Amino acid sequence: MTNYQNNLQYAKEMDEADPLKGFRARFHLPVQKDGIPYVYLCGNSLGLQPKSVRAAIEQELLDWEHYGVEGHFHARNPWMPYHEFLTESMAKVVGAKPIEVVVMNTLSVNLHLMMVSFYRPSEKRNKILIEYDAFPSDKYAVISQIKFHAYDPAESLIELKARPGETLLREEDIEAVIQEQGEEIALIMLGNTNYYTGQFFDMKKITELGHAKGCVVGFDCAHGAGNVNLDLHNTGADFAVWCSYKYINSGPGSLGGCFVHERHAYREDLPRFTGWWGHNKETRFGMRDKFDPIPGVEAWQLSNPPILSMAAVKASLEVFMDAGMDNIFKKSKILTGYMEFLVNEMNNDRIRIITPADPQKRGSQLSIQVQNADKSLFEEISKRGVIADWREPDVIRVAPVPLYNSFEDVYRFSEILKASVSKLN
Ligand SMILES: *Cc1c(COP(=O)(O)O)cnc(C)c1O
Repeated sequence: MTNYQNNLQYAKEMDEADPLKGFRARFHLPVQKDGIPYVYLCGNSLGLQPKSVRAAIEQELLDWEHYGVEGHFHARNPWMPYHEFLTESMAKVVGAKPIEVVVMNTLSVNLHLMMVSFYRPSEKRNKILIEYDAFPSDKYAVISQIKFHAYDPAESLIELKARPGETLLREEDIEAVIQEQGEEIALIMLGNTNYYTGQFFDMKKITELGHAKGCVVGFDCAHGAGNVNLDLHNTGADFAVWCSYKYINSGPGSLGGCFVHERHAYREDLPRFTGWWGHNKETRFGMRDKFDPIPGVEAWQLSNPPILSMAAVKASLEVFMDAGMDNIFKKSKILTGYMEFLVNEMNNDRIRIITPADPQKRGSQLSIQVQNADKSLFEEISKRGVIADWREPDVIRVAPVPLYNSFEDVYRFSEILKASVSKLN
Protein backbone atom coordinates (compact mmCIF):
# COMPACT_ATOMS: atom_id res chain seq x y z
CA MET A 1 0.00 0.00 0.00
CA THR A 2 2.63 2.45 1.05
CA ASN A 3 5.46 3.02 -1.37
CA TYR A 4 8.24 2.88 1.14
CA GLN A 5 11.77 3.91 0.17
CA ASN A 6 15.04 2.84 1.63
CA ASN A 7 16.75 6.17 2.20
CA LEU A 8 17.15 8.81 4.89
CA GLN A 9 15.63 11.56 2.79
CA TYR A 10 12.40 9.58 2.51
CA ALA A 11 12.31 8.85 6.26
CA LYS A 12 12.68 12.56 6.95
CA GLU A 13 9.88 13.40 4.54
CA MET A 14 7.63 10.87 6.25
CA ASP A 15 8.38 12.53 9.59
CA GLU A 16 7.61 15.93 8.14
CA ALA A 17 4.24 14.71 6.87
CA ASP A 18 3.36 12.81 10.09
CA PRO A 19 0.28 14.28 11.82
CA LEU A 20 1.69 13.10 15.17
CA LYS A 21 5.18 14.52 14.62
CA GLY A 22 4.75 17.07 17.44
CA PHE A 23 4.33 14.36 20.08
CA ARG A 24 7.96 13.24 20.13
CA ALA A 25 8.86 16.56 21.77
CA ARG A 26 6.49 15.75 24.61
CA PHE A 27 8.72 12.89 25.80
CA HIS A 28 12.17 12.66 27.35
CA LEU A 29 14.38 10.68 24.98
CA PRO A 30 17.37 9.02 26.66
CA VAL A 31 20.59 10.53 25.30
CA GLN A 32 24.04 9.11 24.62
CA LYS A 33 27.26 10.58 26.01
CA ASP A 34 27.59 12.92 23.02
CA GLY A 35 24.10 14.29 23.65
CA ILE A 36 22.52 12.54 20.67
CA PRO A 37 19.31 10.65 21.53
CA TYR A 38 19.38 6.88 21.42
CA VAL A 39 17.17 5.14 18.93
CA TYR A 40 14.78 3.97 21.63
CA LEU A 41 12.84 0.89 20.56
CA CYS A 42 12.02 -0.51 23.98
CA GLY A 43 8.60 1.03 24.55
CA ASN A 44 7.24 -2.53 24.78
CA SER A 45 9.28 -2.92 27.96
CA LEU A 46 9.29 0.55 29.51
CA GLY A 47 7.62 3.46 27.77
CA LEU A 48 9.40 6.81 27.83
CA GLN A 49 8.54 9.56 30.26
CA PRO A 50 6.08 12.20 29.11
CA LYS A 51 7.52 15.58 30.07
CA SER A 52 4.24 16.46 31.78
CA VAL A 53 4.68 13.70 34.37
CA ARG A 54 7.05 15.66 36.60
CA ALA A 55 4.63 18.57 37.06
CA ALA A 56 1.74 16.17 37.65
CA ILE A 57 3.61 14.41 40.47
CA GLU A 58 4.83 17.73 41.86
CA GLN A 59 1.25 18.93 42.04
CA GLU A 60 0.40 16.04 44.36
CA LEU A 61 3.51 16.64 46.45
CA LEU A 62 2.56 20.30 46.78
CA ASP A 63 -1.01 19.48 47.74
CA TRP A 64 0.21 16.99 50.31
CA GLU A 65 2.60 19.70 51.62
CA HIS A 66 -0.19 22.29 51.82
CA TYR A 67 -3.18 20.27 52.87
CA GLY A 68 -2.01 17.12 54.62
CA VAL A 69 -4.97 14.82 55.04
CA GLU A 70 -7.34 17.49 53.73
CA GLY A 71 -5.86 16.83 50.29
CA HIS A 72 -8.28 13.94 50.01
CA PHE A 73 -10.93 16.60 49.40
CA HIS A 74 -9.08 19.88 48.75
CA ALA A 75 -6.19 18.93 46.50
CA ARG A 76 -6.50 20.33 43.00
CA ASN A 77 -7.25 16.75 41.96
CA PRO A 78 -8.85 15.44 45.16
CA TRP A 79 -7.29 12.12 46.18
CA MET A 80 -10.52 10.58 47.33
CA PRO A 81 -11.97 10.08 43.81
CA TYR A 82 -8.56 10.27 42.08
CA HIS A 83 -8.81 6.98 40.20
CA GLU A 84 -11.99 8.25 38.56
CA PHE A 85 -9.96 10.91 36.73
CA LEU A 86 -8.26 8.10 34.82
CA THR A 87 -11.22 5.90 33.99
CA GLU A 88 -12.64 7.56 30.93
CA SER A 89 -9.34 7.92 29.09
CA MET A 90 -8.15 4.45 30.07
CA ALA A 91 -11.46 3.07 28.80
CA LYS A 92 -10.84 4.81 25.46
CA VAL A 93 -7.32 3.39 25.24
CA VAL A 94 -8.61 -0.18 25.58
CA GLY A 95 -11.99 0.23 23.86
CA ALA A 96 -14.27 -0.33 26.85
CA LYS A 97 -17.05 1.39 28.75
CA PRO A 98 -16.11 3.37 31.87
CA ILE A 99 -18.01 0.96 34.14
CA GLU A 100 -15.77 -1.81 32.80
CA VAL A 101 -12.40 -0.21 33.55
CA VAL A 102 -10.43 0.69 36.65
CA VAL A 103 -6.79 1.55 37.29
CA MET A 104 -5.59 -0.29 40.41
CA ASN A 105 -2.78 -2.46 41.81
CA THR A 106 -0.33 -4.03 39.38
CA LEU A 107 -0.82 -6.56 36.63
CA SER A 108 -0.05 -9.87 38.33
CA VAL A 109 -2.06 -8.81 41.39
CA ASN A 110 -5.05 -7.98 39.21
CA LEU A 111 -4.69 -11.26 37.35
CA HIS A 112 -4.98 -13.12 40.65
CA LEU A 113 -7.96 -11.03 41.76
CA MET A 114 -9.67 -11.81 38.47
CA MET A 115 -8.98 -15.52 38.78
CA VAL A 116 -10.36 -15.53 42.31
CA SER A 117 -13.65 -14.43 40.77
CA PHE A 118 -13.51 -16.08 37.37
CA TYR A 119 -11.59 -19.31 37.81
CA ARG A 120 -14.11 -21.49 39.61
CA PRO A 121 -12.98 -25.03 38.91
CA SER A 122 -15.12 -28.09 39.45
CA GLU A 123 -14.47 -31.80 39.17
CA LYS A 124 -15.69 -31.83 35.59
CA ARG A 125 -14.33 -28.48 34.50
CA ASN A 126 -11.05 -27.37 36.05
CA LYS A 127 -8.61 -26.68 33.24
CA ILE A 128 -6.91 -23.43 32.28
CA LEU A 129 -5.82 -22.84 28.70
CA ILE A 130 -2.74 -20.64 28.20
CA GLU A 131 0.06 -20.29 25.63
CA TYR A 132 3.11 -22.46 26.11
CA ASP A 133 5.35 -19.42 25.67
CA ALA A 134 3.25 -17.14 27.89
CA PHE A 135 5.03 -14.52 29.97
CA PRO A 136 6.48 -16.35 33.00
CA SER A 137 4.50 -14.38 35.57
CA ASP A 138 1.23 -15.39 33.93
CA LYS A 139 2.20 -19.03 34.05
CA TYR A 140 3.21 -18.85 37.69
CA ALA A 141 -0.10 -17.17 38.43
CA VAL A 142 -2.31 -19.74 36.69
CA ILE A 143 -0.34 -22.69 38.09
CA SER A 144 -0.63 -21.33 41.61
CA GLN A 145 -4.37 -20.84 41.18
CA ILE A 146 -4.77 -24.42 40.02
CA LYS A 147 -2.82 -25.63 43.06
CA PHE A 148 -4.74 -23.30 45.35
CA HIS A 149 -7.90 -25.14 44.35
CA ALA A 150 -6.15 -28.45 45.00
CA TYR A 151 -5.94 -29.53 41.36
CA ASP A 152 -2.83 -30.78 39.63
CA PRO A 153 -1.25 -28.47 37.03
CA ALA A 154 0.01 -31.55 35.17
CA GLU A 155 -3.63 -32.33 34.44
CA SER A 156 -5.33 -28.97 34.63
CA LEU A 157 -3.00 -26.77 32.64
CA ILE A 158 -3.30 -26.91 28.86
CA GLU A 159 -0.49 -25.16 27.03
CA LEU A 160 -0.91 -24.06 23.43
CA LYS A 161 2.21 -24.82 21.46
CA ALA A 162 3.22 -23.83 17.96
CA ARG A 163 3.61 -26.75 15.56
CA PRO A 164 7.07 -28.28 15.28
CA GLY A 165 9.28 -26.01 13.19
CA GLU A 166 6.86 -23.08 13.57
CA THR A 167 7.00 -20.09 15.89
CA LEU A 168 3.49 -18.66 15.74
CA LEU A 169 0.35 -20.27 17.06
CA ARG A 170 -2.14 -21.11 14.37
CA GLU A 171 -5.65 -19.91 15.05
CA GLU A 172 -7.10 -23.17 13.81
CA ASP A 173 -5.03 -25.02 16.42
CA ILE A 174 -6.38 -22.80 19.20
CA GLU A 175 -9.86 -23.42 17.88
CA ALA A 176 -9.32 -27.19 17.75
CA VAL A 177 -8.23 -27.34 21.39
CA ILE A 178 -11.28 -25.34 22.48
CA GLN A 179 -13.55 -27.56 20.39
CA GLU A 180 -12.05 -30.76 21.72
CA GLN A 181 -11.48 -29.91 25.36
CA GLY A 182 -13.77 -26.91 25.89
CA GLU A 183 -16.10 -28.73 28.24
CA GLU A 184 -13.22 -29.37 30.64
CA ILE A 185 -11.81 -25.85 30.39
CA ALA A 186 -12.84 -23.51 33.20
CA LEU A 187 -10.77 -20.57 32.00
CA ILE A 188 -9.10 -19.48 28.78
CA MET A 189 -6.40 -16.99 29.75
CA LEU A 190 -4.16 -15.85 26.91
CA GLY A 191 -1.73 -12.99 26.42
CA ASN A 192 -3.64 -11.13 23.73
CA THR A 193 -0.41 -9.92 22.13
CA ASN A 194 2.37 -12.38 22.72
CA TYR A 195 5.34 -10.70 24.38
CA TYR A 196 7.88 -12.78 22.47
CA THR A 197 6.53 -13.06 18.93
CA GLY A 198 4.32 -9.96 18.90
CA GLN A 199 1.42 -12.09 17.59
CA PHE A 200 -1.96 -10.44 18.24
CA PHE A 201 -4.76 -12.97 18.63
CA ASP A 202 -8.33 -12.58 17.45
CA MET A 203 -9.80 -11.99 20.90
CA LYS A 204 -13.39 -11.80 19.73
CA LYS A 205 -13.20 -15.11 17.95
CA ILE A 206 -11.45 -16.87 20.83
CA THR A 207 -14.02 -15.43 23.24
CA GLU A 208 -16.92 -16.64 21.12
CA LEU A 209 -15.44 -20.12 20.79
CA GLY A 210 -14.81 -20.28 24.52
CA HIS A 211 -18.22 -18.99 25.52
CA ALA A 212 -19.92 -21.45 23.19
CA LYS A 213 -18.28 -24.20 25.25
CA GLY A 214 -19.12 -22.58 28.57
CA CYS A 215 -15.59 -21.39 29.37
CA VAL A 216 -14.74 -18.08 31.03
CA VAL A 217 -12.40 -16.04 28.82
CA GLY A 218 -9.83 -13.51 30.06
CA PHE A 219 -6.83 -11.83 28.47
CA ASP A 220 -3.54 -10.44 29.64
CA CYS A 221 -3.21 -7.29 27.55
CA ALA A 222 0.19 -6.15 28.87
CA HIS A 223 1.53 -5.99 25.32
CA GLY A 224 -1.75 -4.85 23.83
CA ALA A 225 -2.89 -1.87 25.89
CA GLY A 226 -1.84 1.37 24.21
CA ASN A 227 -0.37 -0.65 21.35
CA VAL A 228 -3.22 -2.33 19.46
CA ASN A 229 -6.91 -1.64 19.07
CA LEU A 230 -8.22 -3.95 21.78
CA ASP A 231 -11.88 -3.05 21.49
CA LEU A 232 -12.33 -4.93 24.76
CA HIS A 233 -16.04 -4.42 25.22
CA ASN A 234 -16.89 -5.78 21.79
CA THR A 235 -14.67 -8.82 22.15
CA GLY A 236 -17.10 -9.94 24.84
CA ALA A 237 -14.23 -11.17 27.04
CA ASP A 238 -15.10 -11.63 30.69
CA PHE A 239 -12.04 -9.88 32.05
CA ALA A 240 -8.70 -8.41 31.05
CA VAL A 241 -5.67 -7.04 32.85
CA TRP A 242 -2.71 -4.94 31.72
CA CYS A 243 0.08 -2.74 32.99
CA SER A 244 0.69 0.93 32.31
CA TYR A 245 4.48 1.05 32.21
CA LYS A 246 4.94 -0.53 28.77
CA TYR A 247 3.04 1.16 25.95
CA ILE A 248 1.13 3.43 28.36
CA ASN A 249 4.28 5.28 29.47
CA SER A 250 3.37 5.69 33.14
CA GLY A 251 6.70 4.88 34.75
CA PRO A 252 8.48 1.85 36.20
CA GLY A 253 6.21 -0.41 38.24
CA SER A 254 3.27 1.89 37.73
CA LEU A 255 -0.34 0.82 38.24
CA GLY A 256 -2.20 -1.78 36.27
CA GLY A 257 -5.52 -1.66 34.51
CA CYS A 258 -8.40 -4.06 34.89
CA PHE A 259 -11.47 -4.76 32.76
CA VAL A 260 -14.58 -6.68 33.76
CA HIS A 261 -17.28 -6.90 31.13
CA GLU A 262 -20.44 -4.93 31.80
CA ARG A 263 -22.49 -8.13 31.92
CA HIS A 264 -20.88 -8.88 35.30
CA ALA A 265 -21.33 -5.35 36.67
CA TYR A 266 -24.24 -6.11 38.98
CA ARG A 267 -23.69 -9.78 39.70
CA GLU A 268 -23.98 -10.64 43.35
CA ASP A 269 -23.07 -14.28 43.01
CA LEU A 270 -19.45 -13.72 41.96
CA PRO A 271 -16.99 -14.47 44.74
CA ARG A 272 -14.35 -11.83 45.16
CA PHE A 273 -11.57 -10.74 47.50
CA THR A 274 -12.75 -7.41 48.86
CA GLY A 275 -11.39 -4.28 50.50
CA TRP A 276 -12.85 -0.96 51.54
CA TRP A 277 -12.13 0.80 48.24
CA GLY A 278 -14.61 -1.45 46.48
CA HIS A 279 -17.38 -0.42 48.84
CA ASN A 280 -20.17 2.06 48.06
CA LYS A 281 -18.56 5.50 48.11
CA GLU A 282 -21.43 7.10 50.04
CA THR A 283 -21.01 4.86 53.04
CA ARG A 284 -17.36 3.83 52.77
CA PHE A 285 -16.40 5.74 55.89
CA GLY A 286 -19.31 4.43 57.88
CA MET A 287 -16.88 1.58 58.50
CA ARG A 288 -19.49 -0.76 59.92
CA ASP A 289 -21.74 -1.45 56.99
CA LYS A 290 -21.79 -4.82 55.35
CA PHE A 291 -19.84 -4.78 52.09
CA ASP A 292 -21.87 -2.96 49.47
CA PRO A 293 -20.04 -3.28 46.15
CA ILE A 294 -19.73 -0.38 43.73
CA PRO A 295 -21.36 -1.48 40.45
CA GLY A 296 -18.80 -2.62 37.90
CA VAL A 297 -15.10 -3.32 38.09
CA GLU A 298 -14.49 -0.70 40.82
CA ALA A 299 -15.88 -3.25 43.25
CA TRP A 300 -12.59 -5.16 42.90
CA GLN A 301 -10.55 -2.27 44.30
CA LEU A 302 -8.95 -3.15 47.61
CA SER A 303 -6.97 -0.20 48.88
CA ASN A 304 -6.82 3.53 48.55
CA PRO A 305 -4.41 3.93 45.65
CA PRO A 306 -0.89 5.40 45.38
CA ILE A 307 -1.62 8.93 44.19
CA LEU A 308 1.96 9.71 43.13
CA SER A 309 1.92 6.85 40.64
CA MET A 310 -1.60 7.68 39.56
CA ALA A 311 -0.49 11.22 38.76
CA ALA A 312 1.94 9.77 36.23
CA VAL A 313 -0.78 7.60 34.69
CA LYS A 314 -3.06 10.61 34.47
CA ALA A 315 -0.43 12.75 32.72
CA SER A 316 0.40 9.95 30.31
CA LEU A 317 -3.22 9.26 29.40
CA GLU A 318 -3.67 12.95 28.58
CA VAL A 319 -1.03 12.54 25.87
CA PHE A 320 -2.99 9.63 24.39
CA MET A 321 -6.22 11.62 24.44
CA ASP A 322 -4.53 14.59 22.74
CA ALA A 323 -3.14 12.35 20.01
CA GLY A 324 -6.32 10.29 19.50
CA MET A 325 -6.29 6.50 19.51
CA ASP A 326 -7.19 6.18 15.84
CA ASN A 327 -4.26 8.38 14.83
CA ILE A 328 -1.94 6.36 17.04
CA PHE A 329 -3.03 3.02 15.58
CA LYS A 330 -2.84 4.40 12.07
CA LYS A 331 0.72 5.68 12.46
CA SER A 332 1.72 2.48 14.23
CA LYS A 333 0.83 0.40 11.17
CA ILE A 334 2.75 2.66 8.79
CA LEU A 335 5.78 2.96 11.06
CA THR A 336 6.07 -0.75 11.81
CA GLY A 337 5.43 -1.51 8.16
CA TYR A 338 8.39 0.73 7.35
CA MET A 339 10.63 -1.19 9.71
CA GLU A 340 9.47 -4.47 8.19
CA PHE A 341 10.16 -3.11 4.71
CA LEU A 342 13.70 -2.05 5.64
CA VAL A 343 14.52 -5.37 7.33
CA ASN A 344 13.24 -7.27 4.30
CA GLU A 345 15.30 -5.00 2.04
CA MET A 346 18.45 -6.32 3.70
CA ASN A 347 17.73 -9.51 1.86
CA ASN A 348 19.84 -11.47 4.28
CA ASP A 349 19.08 -15.20 4.64
CA ARG A 350 20.03 -15.12 8.29
CA ILE A 351 17.48 -12.45 9.19
CA ARG A 352 13.85 -13.39 9.64
CA ILE A 353 10.96 -11.51 11.20
CA ILE A 354 8.99 -13.97 13.32
CA THR A 355 6.13 -11.54 14.02
CA PRO A 356 3.11 -12.03 11.73
CA ALA A 357 3.37 -10.13 8.43
CA ASP A 358 -0.35 -9.33 8.52
CA PRO A 359 -0.68 -5.86 10.14
CA GLN A 360 -4.01 -6.96 11.69
CA LYS A 361 -2.22 -9.69 13.61
CA ARG A 362 0.44 -7.59 15.29
CA GLY A 363 1.04 -4.27 17.02
CA SER A 364 4.13 -2.13 16.78
CA GLN A 365 6.61 -4.80 17.90
CA LEU A 366 8.71 -6.81 15.48
CA SER A 367 10.72 -9.76 16.74
CA ILE A 368 13.71 -10.23 14.49
CA GLN A 369 15.55 -13.50 14.50
CA VAL A 370 19.18 -13.53 13.37
CA GLN A 371 20.28 -17.10 12.81
CA ASN A 372 23.53 -18.18 14.44
CA ALA A 373 23.89 -14.83 16.13
CA ASP A 374 24.72 -14.47 19.78
CA LYS A 375 24.47 -11.67 22.27
CA SER A 376 27.51 -9.93 20.74
CA LEU A 377 25.19 -8.80 17.94
CA PHE A 378 22.93 -7.16 20.46
CA GLU A 379 25.91 -5.57 22.20
CA GLU A 380 27.12 -4.17 18.88
CA ILE A 381 23.73 -2.65 18.17
CA SER A 382 23.63 -1.14 21.63
CA LYS A 383 27.12 0.31 21.20
CA ARG A 384 25.91 2.01 18.05
CA GLY A 385 23.11 3.77 19.85
CA VAL A 386 20.03 1.54 19.77
CA ILE A 387 18.09 0.59 22.91
CA ALA A 388 16.25 -2.63 22.11
CA ASP A 389 15.65 -5.95 23.80
CA TRP A 390 17.42 -9.27 23.39
CA ARG A 391 15.82 -12.67 23.92
CA GLU A 392 17.98 -15.77 23.98
CA PRO A 393 19.01 -17.43 21.84
CA ASP A 394 18.81 -15.13 18.80
CA VAL A 395 15.88 -12.69 18.82
CA ILE A 396 15.93 -8.90 18.93
CA ARG A 397 12.62 -7.31 19.84
CA VAL A 398 12.05 -3.78 18.63
CA ALA A 399 8.95 -1.66 19.01
CA PRO A 400 8.73 1.60 17.11
CA VAL A 401 6.14 3.47 19.16
CA PRO A 402 3.97 5.94 17.25
CA LEU A 403 3.87 8.59 19.99
CA TYR A 404 7.61 9.20 20.15
CA ASN A 405 9.44 7.18 17.52
CA SER A 406 10.15 8.65 14.12
CA PHE A 407 10.64 7.21 10.66
CA GLU A 408 14.21 8.43 10.97
CA ASP A 409 14.62 6.28 14.12
CA VAL A 410 13.45 3.29 12.14
CA TYR A 411 15.80 4.09 9.27
CA ARG A 412 18.77 4.58 11.61
CA PHE A 413 17.99 1.27 13.32
CA SER A 414 17.96 -0.58 10.02
CA GLU A 415 21.34 0.86 9.03
CA ILE A 416 22.78 -0.09 12.41
CA LEU A 417 21.35 -3.61 12.21
CA LYS A 418 22.78 -4.06 8.74
CA ALA A 419 26.24 -2.87 9.78
CA SER A 420 26.19 -5.01 12.93
CA VAL A 421 25.08 -8.18 11.16
CA SER A 422 27.82 -7.74 8.55
CA LYS A 423 30.38 -7.86 11.38
CA LEU A 424 29.17 -11.30 12.49
CA ASN A 425 31.06 -14.37 11.33
C1 LIG B 1 5.04 -7.26 31.52
C2 LIG B 1 4.17 -8.41 31.74
C3 LIG B 1 3.87 -8.85 33.04
C4 LIG B 1 4.48 -8.20 34.25
O1 LIG B 1 3.65 -8.27 35.37
P1 LIG B 1 3.77 -7.23 36.57
O2 LIG B 1 2.81 -7.74 37.55
O3 LIG B 1 3.44 -5.87 36.03
O4 LIG B 1 5.18 -7.26 37.06
C5 LIG B 1 3.02 -9.94 33.17
N1 LIG B 1 2.49 -10.56 32.09
C6 LIG B 1 2.76 -10.14 30.84
C7 LIG B 1 2.16 -10.83 29.65
C8 LIG B 1 3.61 -9.07 30.62
O5 LIG B 1 3.90 -8.68 29.38
